[in-house]
Amino acid sequence: MTMFLRKTVQKVLILCLIFLPVAVLNAKDPIKVLILTGQNNHNWKASNVILQKYLNESGVFAADIATSPDKGGDMSSFRPDFSAYKAVVLDYNGDAWSDETNKAFLEYVKNGGGVVVYHAADNAFRNWKEYNEIIGLGGWENRDETDGPYVYYSDGKEVRDTSPGPGGSHGDKHEYKIVVRDKKHPITKGLPETWTHSKDELYDRLRGPAKNLTVLATAYSAKETRGTGRDEPMLMVIKWGKGRIFHTVLGHVGGESTHPAVEGASFIVTFLRGTEWAATGKVTQKVPDDFPRK
Ligand code: ZN
Repeated sequence: MTMFLRKTVQKVLILCLIFLPVAVLNAKDPIKVLILTGQNNHNWKASNVILQKYLNESGVFAADIATSPDKGGDMSSFRPDFSAYKAVVLDYNGDAWSDETNKAFLEYVKNGGGVVVYHAADNAFRNWKEYNEIIGLGGWENRDETDGPYVYYSDGKEVRDTSPGPGGSHGDKHEYKIVVRDKKHPITKGLPETWTHSKDELYDRLRGPAKNLTVLATAYSAKETRGTGRDEPMLMVIKWGKGRIFHTVLGHVGGESTHPAVEGASFIVTFLRGTEWAATGKVTQKVPDDFPRK
């Protein structure tokens, strides 16, 4: 090798060493996610920290938190910058947002922003039409047949039931089986067909517009635990405008010192996969070995 060639090779190597790590970092830029919280009939002070920890420790996301004023506070100051994020996680069930924030949220979803509806976020805002289209199904706040059909599974088929009755209830907390109904969706692809979810509330009798809604997984709400005797939706996806919405009813966090509903791989893995899909339309995360398989 001539001296000239040797020097050139050296230079190229040095340049590679300088720029390669930057290129690798760029390829793995974390997905920016915003958790909306601040009011809830649940323990939002615990849940938002737990959700942020899962997102940030996954190596896939960088999660910020937007905390609203307390109940009865001046909501005009609550103006999250949705456009800076690929997905918004709703951990909020409280006072109405300002008209400006509602409008910004709808614009964000319409233009392709991702949304994750987490547990009691589907209780919120009964009277906000578009919000209910985005969550697909909701409960409580006096929801009834005027809000849309009940959606559940019966004999392996989806049922949309317009019969009158209240929307939203749950029986006693317990461990229960989750059954995948759509094995091809990126969120559920590669998960076991059925697994046991950690001790949690089992939401049932949800009802809502359910437009462009696909049920990914259900759980049987047994009468023995004061349930409906129906296979109820647990994981869902909804399309609204260009936005992708992942709705998980799992993950009750209350006033107790432990929170088993969000501590198992069942919640964590489905939450992280759903958030990635809502943000990007893809799921790159592998199903971990400790995911429950029966
Ligand atoms: Zn709950």
